Amino acid sequence: MSRFIACTCALLFCSASHAATLIHNIHGYTMDHGQRIEFIGLEYDHGKVTHLYSQPDSIANSAATERIDGEGATLLPGLIDAHGHISSHGRALSAVDLVGSPSEDDSAARVAAFIAKNSDQEWIMGRGWNQVIWPSNQFPDRRTLDVIAGDKAVALNRIDGHAMWVNSKVLQLVDINANTPDPEGGQIIRAANGRATGILIDNAMDLVSAIMPPITDKDMQGFISTALEDLAGYGLTSVHDAGIKAQEVRAYQALRRDNNLPVRVYAMLDVMDPANDAYLREGPLIDPEDMLVIRSVKISADGALGSRGAALFEDYSDQPGQRGLLLVNDEQLDTHMSRAMAAGYQVNIHAIGDLANARVLDYYAQMIKRYNTRDLRHRNEHSQIIRPEDISRFAEIGVVASIQPTHATSDKNMAGDRLGQERLAGAYAWKKLLDSGAKLAGGSDFPVESPNPFFGLHAAVTRQGKDNQPPGGWLPEEKLTRDQSLSLFTENAAWAAHQENVIGRLLPGYAADFILVRDDYFTVAEQDIWKNKVLATYVAGRKVYEK
Ligand SMILES: [Zn+2]
Repeated sequence: MSRFIACTCALLFCSASHAATLIHNIHGYTMDHGQRIEFIGLEYDHGKVTHLYSQPDSIANSAATERIDGEGATLLPGLIDAHGHISSHGRALSAVDLVGSPSEDDSAARVAAFIAKNSDQEWIMGRGWNQVIWPSNQFPDRRTLDVIAGDKAVALNRIDGHAMWVNSKVLQLVDINANTPDPEGGQIIRAANGRATGILIDNAMDLVSAIMPPITDKDMQGFISTALEDLAGYGLTSVHDAGIKAQEVRAYQALRRDNNLPVRVYAMLDVMDPANDAYLREGPLIDPEDMLVIRSVKISADGALGSRGAALFEDYSDQPGQRGLLLVNDEQLDTHMSRAMAAGYQVNIHAIGDLANARVLDYYAQMIKRYNTRDLRHRNEHSQIIRPEDISRFAEIGVVASIQPTHATSDKNMAGDRLGQERLAGAYAWKKLLDSGAKLAGGSDFPVESPNPFFGLHAAVTRQGKDNQPPGGWLPEEKLTRDQSLSLFTENAAWAAHQENVIGRLLPGYAADFILVRDDYFTVAEQDIWKNKVLATYVAGRKVYEK
């Protein structure tokens, strides 16, 4: 009798302490300090990995009470995007999508379809048009929108965010007519007779932004939720939000309080929002469960290459006399960096041109010494064009190169025009950076590029577009291996966020952040890496997406 009781207790004890889940029948992979580990079963409990199984007979001994049949799918660590813009992505998903629209008329038709579905909206927003890919190769006209928009106000951002196409209703609302002068730093495009055509460039766009209905905190939570749900579907389990305003901080905190973050967020405070000053004074916002961490700031040192805003040492090859724009002067850079470092924040600086990268490295070299903050793992966001002599300085100074592989494949032709052959030696130079000992983190810069991390993995491995161009890859000496590329989007992105002991690897003790995907990333043909499909996404053992 006593034996029977003891036995029952043992069984009860067993089931109570092993609420673990086993996922089996998988091709499992994780990177661990650059080494690939393979497994066929993954066990987790209370949101954390407890065991990896590599042998079928050992799986039989698993005490897990819940079993999931992976049906032969590939299992990878949840992917991490080290540079994206979450609320912008959510806004883009809540607006007319004009990316890839082949003509002015097609763009107008997409707006008309959106209006038909959202008849209660007074303002119709959109983004993504690009006249360069249209047969006309010309800026569109407000009259094309007037035909379909009725009494709605329509404002459509160009793909690069530097021009806006509006209808006549918007021009009336902001009181722009043939006599309105161009604002400082902006331009109102006009027809030969002086008529404003509905295209506003750079600071002229602010006239419209100023009269748009303000975004409420509730709207912001909606944008973020919409974005995160979408991102989970791409297999992303953590995203670094590259520059957020105080309203976004509030929205994230509210979502976190209500346990409504499906994906982890590591956010950088935008130093340009004065409302962020209070957060900067109080110091980093650390979450013991690493769902919402705000311990970095974002500063922009220069513009972008496409618009010739990236700051270069020498003239643009395709525009003599033009060397780009430095967006912060010495005093501002010193102030922003000092304030952030003194409060214990990681400093992440957008630097695209070779001048911007060198200057930012100079500043890090001084300031890291002054504040003794090498451990904060400061980052250059983009790290696109680097003088060969500056490449080794990332590792020396201890600065992370945060890179976006799809930028290289999208920019390849344009970058050659802007920079000429010689300067390409240090352009998107991931392999040289890795070989120099620098830490790299992978991202996409969505919504500028697609957030699909398999596009990034493909670009890093092949240096080719999805059209397999150019043959052999663009600057093929900078290709990375599949292992290196997966590390970029997992363990290295985690390192760049001080989370390498929590996420980015599937090892006992790590969070059970993983994805099931259709194709085996390591055996699929190189040119097909981007075609992979995510079947399910898990964050801390909880399923947040299923196909
Ligand atoms: Zn960005």
